Amino acid sequence: MTKIAIIGGGAAGFFAAISAKIENPDMDVRIYERTSKFLGKVKISGGGRCNVTNATFNNRLLAANYPRGEKFLKKAFEQFNAQDTVQWFESRGVALKTYPDGCIFPLSNESQSIINCFLAESRILGIQTILHRGVDAIIPLEGGFELKFKEESEFADRVIVTVGGQPKSTGFDFLSELTHTIISPQPSLFTFNMPHESIREFMGLVVEKATLRIEGQKLLGQGPLLITHWGMSGPAVLQLSAWGARILADKEYQFAILVNWLDQEKEPTLRETFAETMKVHGGKMLGNLNPFPIPARLWNFLLTKNSIDPSSRWVDIGQKNINKLVNCLLNDRYRVQGKTTFKEEFVTAGGVDLSEINPHSMESLRHPGLFFAGEVMDIDGITGGFNFQAAWTTGFIAGKHAALE
Ligand SMILES: Cc1cc2nc3c(=O)[nH]c(=O)nc-3n(C[C@H](O)[C@H](O)[C@H](O)COP(=O)(O)OP(=O)(O)OC[C@H]3O[C@@H](n4cnc5c(N)ncnc54)[C@H](O)[C@@H]3O)c2cc1C
Repeated sequence: MTKIAIIGGGAAGFFAAISAKIENPDMDVRIYERTSKFLGKVKISGGGRCNVTNATFNNRLLAANYPRGEKFLKKAFEQFNAQDTVQWFESRGVALKTYPDGCIFPLSNESQSIINCFLAESRILGIQTILHRGVDAIIPLEGGFELKFKEESEFADRVIVTVGGQPKSTGFDFLSELTHTIISPQPSLFTFNMPHESIREFMGLVVEKATLRIEGQKLLGQGPLLITHWGMSGPAVLQLSAWGARILADKEYQFAILVNWLDQEKEPTLRETFAETMKVHGGKMLGNLNPFPIPARLWNFLLTKNSIDPSSRWVDIGQKNINKLVNCLLNDRYRVQGKTTFKEEFVTAGGVDLSEINPHSMESLRHPGLFFAGEVMDIDGITGGFNFQAAWTTGFIAGKHAALE
């Protein structure tokens, strides 16, 4: 009987195993998990709720959410996309709910619903699930692979590697016999520390739509921005941290950002707002009349930051102050010194080089019969359910193709 060994009992591992067994029920499909429990990350994901995917049902738009892996996944989504994920879970009795930001969670709000679904499905299909069985090396042989464990080894005809993201390069050492190129791992999805910026006093303050740039770079982060005790967080920051993961690691997390507090607003329209406000509300105090869609506390902070008296009147603002405020509203500079892991969802950039994997089958271009799925590959998404979607898609494809006769 053909044996498919799946290395790693996480999101991609279970999806691959189920896909393989459905494709070919006669094959012996086994999941080897190093730790004492399966699906550990699924359990803690999304604050215990598991953001399973995102309601982005156009493959091109879906792929645009991956700082690493966009082109590769665009091809892979042709076989299994976000719509397929929704259908996959709902057809197995896991009701899902879509939130206004597109994030999709189990209706139960419990990641355990997803875990129960995988465990039940594996049982029904006859997948062997083995705990405390870490693979230390995979040796390619003629017509198969030798899997090395602590004290013994086993043969497998086909292998799917689904060990997840590895924070250190040494985490990939067990793959060394396979001679795949490993893109060195770096954290992605983190928040910015600003120990010397007084804006931290406004912790808890939210700007609904801001745009962030790394000074000297073109990369953008857009969306809600949250001021925290440490600096800045929120979707706009997390997005920028993901797109800039490599650049920011090279800078050792010492860099400056430029904030456009008014999302994408441009200078001419902003100057019109200043002129209009002076005309209509000239007698009002600057601090009392905030014509912009930002919190009043932030507006007052920006006035003070630019040495403008909030008790002066709009009519007296003067061209010099308008210039200062225009610049500050569109390009407000903050010094970032360090990062904090975003605990709700964090991933590592880096992993097995995608140029050595076939995106239509997830099979290694170096070793026929060897497949990869999930975060072990150099794929990572921004927050919003995209990382699990990549695990489901690549797991589905790897399992299906590994099980072909
Ligand atoms: C706190 C947190 C919250 C998250 N929340 C979300 C979310 O809500 N939505 C989202 O889309 N993404 C989320 N993510 C990201 C998501 O969890 C990962 O992208 C996803 O789990 C990757 O799946 P995977 O199967 O590739 O790896 P994993 O889920 O990490 O599974 C890999 C498995 O392989 C095992 N393993 C490792 N080495 C070996 C070995 N040598 N032998 C045998 N077994 C081995 C590991 O123990 C692990 O069980 C979150 C991540 C974190 C850390």
